[in-house]
Amino acid sequence: MLVKTILNHIEKHSSFVYGAVRFREGGPIEVEVRPRRGARPVCSGCSRRRSVYDTMAQREFQFVPLWGIAVFLLYSMRRVNCRPCGVRVESVPWAEGKRRTTISFEWFLAIWAKRLSWSEIAQIFGTSWETVFRSVERAVDWGRSHADYSGIEAIGIDEIQWKFGQTYLTLVYQIDVNVRRLIWVGEERTRQTLHAFFDWFGADRIAALRFICSDMWKAYLTVIRQRAAHCLHILDRFHIVAHLSKAIDKVRASEARALSKRGRGELLKHSRWAILRRPENRTEKDDLKLADIVRANLRTARSVLLREDLYALWTYHSRSWAGKFIDAWCRKVMRSRIEPLKKFARMLRNHRELILNWFQAKALSSGIVEGLNGKAKLTMKRAYGFRTFRAIEVALYHTLADLPLLDTVHKFC
Ligand SMILES: [Zn+2]
Repeated sequence: MLVKTILNHIEKHSSFVYGAVRFREGGPIEVEVRPRRGARPVCSGCSRRRSVYDTMAQREFQFVPLWGIAVFLLYSMRRVNCRPCGVRVESVPWAEGKRRTTISFEWFLAIWAKRLSWSEIAQIFGTSWETVFRSVERAVDWGRSHADYSGIEAIGIDEIQWKFGQTYLTLVYQIDVNVRRLIWVGEERTRQTLHAFFDWFGADRIAALRFICSDMWKAYLTVIRQRAAHCLHILDRFHIVAHLSKAIDKVRASEARALSKRGRGELLKHSRWAILRRPENRTEKDDLKLADIVRANLRTARSVLLREDLYALWTYHSRSWAGKFIDAWCRKVMRSRIEPLKKFARMLRNHRELILNWFQAKALSSGIVEGLNGKAKLTMKRAYGFRTFRAIEVALYHTLADLPLLDTVHKFC
């Protein structure tokens, strides 16, 4: 009785009624569903009401659990006699196609997937990973087709490694001051990838864009110049510092090898994070380790100090003074004889103007792409084990794209 009341309250279908409710052996609740008297079935081919041809064996559809108990709807699908379509299975409002899960249950799983990993959800709600994936995929497809992508003025283009670092994905974010979300995911980070984004985005929306933030990756720079030359193109702090950190890591690794050959390997052992962490994130232990390294006057230490110097760049207010600062910093580095850093300095010089664009759009790029990149990495980590691009794409959209939800979802979540 109570179950029927709840079902009629949250999910009433005009052409069907809920019948007997009982416990099945082992726990789950079964609810019979039957056609309302006189209601003719709907043809799944043409969506028109037709006469009954025959009735098939009973099928079960998993519904949203009640009090943590699994619920199944039992229904015998009818076949319709449809002149244009032939003999066809009817379509029912609570499930799609041949699925054994109700649409409500799929949305329910999708909502949980914003908080838990797909395998955890499968375990908790007694279903398969595949079902959770299909449910999230459906929610994402629905959300993407209902999302509003108008009025976007600023985007950030970012790359992220996956498949154990073997390949890249390209992520495009909206980074307007009020709306920050993932809007597009593409495989690889080639020119074709970014062309595919602009093709999807479309001419009108490209014309409305004003700012683009990106990395120094050449394919990106080329395509942005071709497709959105009217935008102010900014190379932001996050991407620049990431390149510098990579260079410093190279210095550290080669110096560590050289030291251990001379039997002084201890000095740089376990130093990687002390060196790579930003000053504000360093622990006391990191500081001690760094002090040791600096005292030994290692090339690694000089690199870290040069990086610390570079941070001052982003405190400038004037574009021209910032430009002078870059020039002076690069000269200092070129004299350092530290090859990976010199390579980095040459890159800075080559992209000087795009870096200085940052000073014209400060509010936009301070840490936004970095924050989104951190969230994307977290999603990738949770999705550890996803083998296909489709699965990772769906997971990223689901957690970062801020997609709209079907209205009815709020009834049970
Ligand atoms: Zn039909």
